[in-house]
Amino acid sequence: AGPTSDRSVAVIGLGRFGQSLALELMDEGAEVLGIDAREDIVQSLNGRLTHVVHADATDEAVLRQLSIPEFDRVVIAIGSDIQASILVTSLLLRFDIRKIWAKAVSDPHGLILEQLGIQHVIYPEKDMGRRVAHIVLGTMQDFIEIDTDFAMVKTALSPELAGARLGDSGIRRRYGVTVTSVKPAGGTWQPATQDTVLQEGDTILVTGPTKQAETFSRGMS
Ligand code: ADP
Repeated sequence: AGPTSDRSVAVIGLGRFGQSLALELMDEGAEVLGIDAREDIVQSLNGRLTHVVHADATDEAVLRQLSIPEFDRVVIAIGSDIQASILVTSLLLRFDIRKIWAKAVSDPHGLILEQLGIQHVIYPEKDMGRRVAHIVLGTMQDFIEIDTDFAMVKTALSPELAGARLGDSGIRRRYGVTVTSVKPAGGTWQPATQDTVLQEGDTILVTGPTKQAETFSRGMS
């Protein structure tokens, strides 16, 4: 079951996160090899991924047999069993795979993965928790932190900005954020230009440093 294209991805661990990731990769047209130690999980995904294998990924011989060293992209989606996560990570790093992502369930777990040499550590619960907190607290309809201090926010336009031409609105100067797209009430998303005239009822997408994006969004309430 080796990789046959550069759109091949191996996903190790098919819990809630690994499954959702693997199925989305399939939707995106990737070839996906999924591996899990649980027979029932493997059976339930049979036919929905390119290959699904019931195996213990901490076994080097198994990984070699599955041609894992030939994959360009591998995601280690084992979380709660930290020992297994670390063992698999250590094996994969020896294989010289170009891109490895690993899921961490806690900061110490993530730190260990980074110390081992993983460049892309993912914190699904932590990131989702932060995202939802912003949505619950603020007027934000959505929040994605794109980098450690840079975010994209979807929010309702403050009525006081209605009628302003974006180029004259002073939003970037005053708030340090950039309006990138605008969706009028009942309309569809349009790219924002200097000539876009903001209307009451618009939903807007802004990017900027996280704190500034938050402040701007709060001001929109
Ligand atoms: P989630 O929170 O996304 O459900 P879990 O960490 O609970 O994540 O799930 C991880 C998955 O990885 C489980 O389905 C488990 O069976 C699988 N797994 C754990 N250890 C191994 C291993 N050594 N080899 C293969 N799969 C494993």
